[in-house]
Amino acid sequence: MGFCSAACCKLSRRVKYLFLLLLPLSVLAWICLFSGGSVKSFTVFSAATQALIKKENTQDLANLGTSVAVRLMTPTPRTECPKKSPLLQGAVKLNFEPSLKVKDVEGENKRVVEGRYQPLSCTARQSVAILIPHRNRERHLLYLLHHLHPFLQRQQLHYAVYVIQQAGDATFNRAKLLNVGYLEALKDYTWDCFIFHDVDLVPENDRNLYVCDSQPKHLVVGRNATGYKLHYKGYFGGVSAMSREQFGKVNGFANTYWGWGGEDDDLRIRVELQKMKIVRPPADIARYTMVFHKRDSGNEVNKDRMKLLRRTPLVWKKDGLNSCKYQILSVERLPLYINVTVDLGKP
Ligand code: UDP
Ligand code: MN
Repeated sequence: MGFCSAACCKLSRRVKYLFLLLLPLSVLAWICLFSGGSVKSFTVFSAATQALIKKENTQDLANLGTSVAVRLMTPTPRTECPKKSPLLQGAVKLNFEPSLKVKDVEGENKRVVEGRYQPLSCTARQSVAILIPHRNRERHLLYLLHHLHPFLQRQQLHYAVYVIQQAGDATFNRAKLLNVGYLEALKDYTWDCFIFHDVDLVPENDRNLYVCDSQPKHLVVGRNATGYKLHYKGYFGGVSAMSREQFGKVNGFANTYWGWGGEDDDLRIRVELQKMKIVRPPADIARYTMVFHKRDSGNEVNKDRMKLLRRTPLVWKKDGLNSCKYQILSVERLPLYINVTVDLGKP
């Protein structure tokens, strides 16, 4: 018994040492297990959140109930604007108040920012750049902007107005200014459609849609000055609409028409050479009021225009967008339009 009790005593002491050794080890193991586990479960949570965000599943995000998840919820995508805008009014009464000021027009168009607008409630069907060739016609420009901004907004378009100013007093070149407008506007945005717009023509009916069709479109069937009859068969001047592709396909306008006349007929020939057909809206809709003016100095009749028109089929590939050389002097982003001032060089 004496021997046994001594042995037992030794054994119980060993168990005691073992227990004392294992206790801190097990505590250490628990700490490791807990901290490892909690890191792991955090990782799983954030991956799941990320997966949900990726799926943009707003319901699941809301179920997560965290403020972060709610903040990350994406708004429901806007629907495309209807084919026929509910805001159209048809024929509208135009006014040309001599007392009209730039500030008045800016005040009426608070949602136009740097000449650009897009509808609030829906996504516009087309993005349209309005290109206005200009020099010394400030009054006409103000009247046009006054009517055009609300007109385009009623059509629910995403649009921007570019005024392309010819610097200096060399002979005016409408066509080259419009080429510059096209090239410069595309640096801002990939516009679907381009409207080449004389500064003195104000549309009378908002059903005359400033969008592009599958064919180039001429928008001025009639104007007050010509008894609302088409100027002549094949007339493609004043206001016309071509898609980015259509205008690219014809290599744009010729750069070589200095002074008044011919450049619009040249564009028609280019369109016809590409087997495209000019379309027009109905005559009772495609109506314009032209603000009266005399021929500008610096825009005398181009006597060479008939000669130039005969060469169009031979030169259109090398005279146009691909050969348009110019120097931009300034681009000012004004409230109502983007003012591009350009040195076109001389004839
Ligand atoms: N234009 C201009 N300043 C000029 C000459 C022409 O701004 O000195 C622009 C303006 O946009 C005008 C267009 O070029 O509407 C066509 O010129 P114009 O009005 O003389 O041609 P029309 O069609 O009246 O014969
Ligand atoms: Mn005119």
